[in-house]
Amino acid sequence: MAIKVCKFGGTSMADGNVILSVAKIVKAEKERRYVVVSAPGKRYGADVKVTDLLYKCAEAVEAGNMQELEACFGKIRARFLHIEKEIGKDIGLDVELSEIEEKIKDGAGAAYAASRGEYLAARVMSAVLEVPFVDATEIIRFKEDGTLDEASFALAGKVLAAYEKAVIPGFYGLGADGKVKTFSRGGSDISGAVVARAVKASLYENWTDVSGFYACDPRIVNSPRSIPELTYQELRELSYMGANVLHAESIFPVRSAGIPIRICNTFRPEDKGTDIVQYATQSACENPVTGIAGKKDFTVIFLEKSMMNAEVGFAGKVLNVLTENRVSFEHLPSGIDTMSLVIDNEYLKNGVLETVLTQIKEAVRPDKIYTHENIALVATVGHGMANNIGTSARLFKALSEAGINVIMIDQGSSELNIIVGVDNKDCNACINAIYHEFFN
Ligand code: ASP
Repeated sequence: MAIKVCKFGGTSMADGNVILSVAKIVKAEKERRYVVVSAPGKRYGADVKVTDLLYKCAEAVEAGNMQELEACFGKIRARFLHIEKEIGKDIGLDVELSEIEEKIKDGAGAAYAASRGEYLAARVMSAVLEVPFVDATEIIRFKEDGTLDEASFALAGKVLAAYEKAVIPGFYGLGADGKVKTFSRGGSDISGAVVARAVKASLYENWTDVSGFYACDPRIVNSPRSIPELTYQELRELSYMGANVLHAESIFPVRSAGIPIRICNTFRPEDKGTDIVQYATQSACENPVTGIAGKKDFTVIFLEKSMMNAEVGFAGKVLNVLTENRVSFEHLPSGIDTMSLVIDNEYLKNGVLETVLTQIKEAVRPDKIYTHENIALVATVGHGMANNIGTSARLFKALSEAGINVIMIDQGSSELNIIVGVDNKDCNACINAIYHEFFN
């Protein structure tokens, strides 16, 4: 029988009633055998995620502020006891909560504290589904450098083979030091991907509160179209530019095993969602553009020097300056006598920009060097671009008709994306203009 792994995010675990509807979703298909859960997230806009409260508890202990710990943990206790009441089962959470509070008080640390949101949520889900609980420390391991140990795939596969069905907490595992360790925020997506890989799932369902990816951010474009299918590569491009539905690192465990991911909406389970697949299907390539995303606050350093192309080592010297100042660059479009370095503003704070400019001048003596600060990068992404002549002509015509000044252009050699640099203030207008050109 095909196996589906389902991961439910924080909004899907936010209260007892949603948890009961999650149980209905899981029970609706017998292939849904392994369930990975996040900690309860926000129930409404001003609500606080359980994980945030847990981090605060650890901070309070660190600061020796036991009053703050009690206040914070009190909120967590109330939240879980309310959930226990809503699901209509006494599963002994009160005792578990007291033990956890004690450990946090004794200095168990931030990772342990943060992991308890997922731990308790999985306890609840296991009781509701009447399916065994398998702790994440038994199946997910981290290496000494803090990254996921790939040995987890085999380990999880072996442990889970003993269970027909299981509920597993997301977000954490066991560190090389034998202590609980977490992924970065939003990391339950990675846990779900590890489990999917381990049990050789046919599908990794990632249940959240949106019906998949949209062609662009609905806060920028009014009612954008949803994307029925996205390749891993397109997803990587769009996520990097800020389309945050899935943790970027969650792709790797399933991608190499060819397991597709489906983004589903717990609150609208009937919606089709978005399938993330290895290779684009023919129909998905009919429109040259799959999605558009933008990211603000970059600086471009423009360099000009005649005969740059013939100067051996020019680029190396420039990049050396960046390395020495621990500055990472995002893009490097270049011409025969020009080179542009696109850098996230974060790296250039506190005088670093000035130092970098001085050192580049000394290193390569350019004819001209100037900067454009506050640039937004807008990426237009789609496998269909490779087969559709005139995509860039349409894109730039749309931008010129919208009166948008394009400061920089970078087209990846894979013909998967076209990136334009525009002034921060033009970012949203740029996304709108491109969207309406290709989707209306
Ligand atoms: N609960 C964790 C967070 O808020 C992990 C997750 O939800 O994936 O980041």
